[in-house]
Amino acid sequence: MATLLAGKPVVERLARNLAPRVERLKAADIVPTLAIVRMGERPDDLSYERTAMKRAESLGIAVRSVALDEFTPQSVVEAAMHDITHDAGVHGCLLFRPLPSFVSESRVCELLVPEKDIDGITLASLGSVFTDGRTGFPPCTAAACIEILDHYSVPLVGKHVVVVGRSLVVGKPVSMMLLRRNASVTICHSRTEHLEEICREADIVICATGRARAFDAEFFSPGQTVLDVGINFDTHGRLCGDVDFDKVEPLVGAITPVPGGIGTVTTSMTMAHTVEAAERAQAERSE
Ligand code: NDP
Repeated sequence: MATLLAGKPVVERLARNLAPRVERLKAADIVPTLAIVRMGERPDDLSYERTAMKRAESLGIAVRSVALDEFTPQSVVEAAMHDITHDAGVHGCLLFRPLPSFVSESRVCELLVPEKDIDGITLASLGSVFTDGRTGFPPCTAAACIEILDHYSVPLVGKHVVVVGRSLVVGKPVSMMLLRRNASVTICHSRTEHLEEICREADIVICATGRARAFDAEFFSPGQTVLDVGINFDTHGRLCGDVDFDKVEPLVGAITPVPGGIGTVTTSMTMAHTVEAAERAQAERSE
């Protein structure tokens, strides 16, 4: 039976770490504040927003919800981002994507200053993921993968990690973060040949493809650590990951569940990045 890499203990530890930091900021009259920008009412976005608001409230972080109509023109979306960038009372911004196709997402993202980019949406933040990691923040999901590995003391140095998925939200940034931690990383994608074989050879496999239960026992070998980033719905409408948990869990050494794994830690990373953004802003002001 595999060790379950549950998100809850990670979330609880992060909350214990953040509580005194939020108190210190509040003592200096700074309420760490997260702006959530949403266009339209996609059920996934609404559900994530509700979860984020609850998590923020429990930590003493304020949330400003910027809810835009699904047909909002480019100029108005840009104006909303411009306001967030110039509002000293907002420390972090979470933008639900993808934006509708008539809006240039890249133009909207680039209006956010990297200091408030708590989810790695600006080129400055993403560039930093590939260099020293000091500008802006990495995408919260990529950061959640690292946080979960660290929490459960999974060794990274010299280990072979296979990341399946090469999006800018998960696959690429988590690969670069692991490389910075001295892991050896293989990035796979939809055109990779012999994927099962490559996965079986890894110490750690991170699945981020968005295909419900596509990774069965053929992809894994005993003792491996498996992170399942996928958030999918099966044909019965049940939430599930990319990994066929029931078949894979008896085989591997450790595995994240879905739900209750990477997703729940991702929400906490949003909060952790917001608090850190507020701290950085405070330090900058006092310099
Ligand atoms: P994308 O669709 O942007 O990327 C999917 C990646 O998977 C692509 O690189 C694609 O390859 C690769 N892929 C698709 N099919 C295969 C295949 N048959 N074999 C190997 N690789 C394949 O998705 P995201 O990165 O945004 O998200 C991935 C999953 O993670 C989704 O389920 C999403 O819901 C979930 N997610 C979860 C979050 C969380 O907080 N837990 C947050 C963000 C996402 P190619 O590049 O060749 O097309």
